[in-house]
Amino acid sequence: ATADIGLIGLAVMGSNLALNIAEKGYTVAVHNRSPGRIDEFVSEAKAQGLDGNTIPKYDLADFVQSVKTPRSIIIMVKAGKPVDDMIEQILPHLEPGDAIIECGNSLYTDTQRRFDYLKPKNIGYLGVGVSGGEEGARHGPSIMVGGSKEQWHNAEAVLTAIAAQFNGESCCAYLGEGGAGHFVKMIHNGIEYGDMQMIAEVYGVMRDGLGMTASECGDVFKKWNEGPLNSYLIEITGHVLHAVDADTKKPLVDLILDKAGQKGTGVWSAIVAQQMGVPATAIEGAVAARSISSRKAERVAAEGIYGKPNRARSDVTLDDLEKALLAGKIVSYAQGFAVIAKASEEFGWSLPLATIAKIWRAGCIIRSRFLDQMASAYSKGDASNLLIVPDFVAIMKDAHPSLRKVVAGAAMGEFPMVCLSAALSYFDSYRQAQGTANLIQGQRDFFGAHGFEIEGRGGDLHGTWPSTLQNKAAAPVVE
Ligand code: NDP
Repeated sequence: ATADIGLIGLAVMGSNLALNIAEKGYTVAVHNRSPGRIDEFVSEAKAQGLDGNTIPKYDLADFVQSVKTPRSIIIMVKAGKPVDDMIEQILPHLEPGDAIIECGNSLYTDTQRRFDYLKPKNIGYLGVGVSGGEEGARHGPSIMVGGSKEQWHNAEAVLTAIAAQFNGESCCAYLGEGGAGHFVKMIHNGIEYGDMQMIAEVYGVMRDGLGMTASECGDVFKKWNEGPLNSYLIEITGHVLHAVDADTKKPLVDLILDKAGQKGTGVWSAIVAQQMGVPATAIEGAVAARSISSRKAERVAAEGIYGKPNRARSDVTLDDLEKALLAGKIVSYAQGFAVIAKASEEFGWSLPLATIAKIWRAGCIIRSRFLDQMASAYSKGDASNLLIVPDFVAIMKDAHPSLRKVVAGAAMGEFPMVCLSAALSYFDSYRQAQGTANLIQGQRDFFGAHGFEIEGRGGDLHGTWPSTLQNKAAAPVVE
């Protein structure tokens, strides 16, 4: 056996990861179900001068045998059942101590199940979140590792070498047992949904409120990318807004249908946050906004009924929009990290928040300058909510008035702001000492005798409510 590591699944992500591994000087054995993809990979590796470090294997048993023990075998196939099928196929060829490293977009509960299944067989299982798309896979993604710690050390050198680097630090880290890596990747994607939606909402004000052309909007994003919002998503937004359609010479973005697709990681993030009782309203808002966007026919019909939105020229400035986006982002990241912190507690993962912020600084889709600030804030001490971390308190104090102005202007100007308004309401709910849930507790006690608490008098107290109005729902309604 001569290969340092094996890789199965030579579609876009797998073949780029394999080339990345080979380029870093490691020998990688590769295999794919359909032999055609192996042929394509072989020619690509040759074209890039990396064939010396790659070992193509058309037979699965041969492939496994070609990897040095204890083996580290990456699988990069379609998420879902293909992963389970693949595990079953290679299992008979593995030896105790070997490890399967699954790098697709798997649901963390599937990863946890596979980890638990393989543990008694003494086969390590690493569920690894890889972000950065095709480019990232080839030149350096952000790599979020979870699963068998012992086997992680066997693959650590390779995975650390192929990851993106930020100031000389690798954007790859072991985060925790079982499904931890895929959980963190899922929340990364949820945060990505929030970032994209908030950017789109701000673009809406520029386009329909300030009357700016796509290219003028693009110029603003380009400028913003030099300030505190500096990030991959802001950068590519500028490029998307500047793109011109070759046929019509019109801005491409003006021709693209306003229906957003989604593959599920946003929904999963929102569901798990709700299940754990952690508010993640920015992610929820972003998911909901994509769902509304996809109902184009209904929206067209509704506009027919209510008339075109009355978009009075907005008095918000570009500076307000920039700060609103920054404030919205802070709230969204505060929520995302709170979900991670809660999952860590609930699943016993000890997820390192500072490390997570660090490995998101380069390679992944949400990479940004801001994450570097976040990493140092978390390194100073464990905070449960970013909104109370001093560095971010200062930014929020400066930026939340702009978020307020933008959301208020949007409401009056009939602009939807599902995500930014959710972020503002979360902030306003979080920072007020006296809320309104006292009334909800009163209502709950009224109809369901759920009890309430009064300071100084203790909990599980009840009010004296008029019995005629109390809920008798338990009894069937007789007509
Ligand atoms: P795809 O998700 O399109 O999957 C194609 C690969 O899966 C092929 O190698 C295919 O083999 C293999 N495959 C499918 N079914 C089976 C099966 N039953 N048994 C064996 N092999 C099977 O590939 P991508 O490269 O796009 O993505 C791989 C993973 O990475 C996915 O989980 C994806 O969600 C994730 N990912 C993708 C990103 C991207 O930008 N594309 C970004 C980050 C993560 P065959 O050639 O024989 O059909």
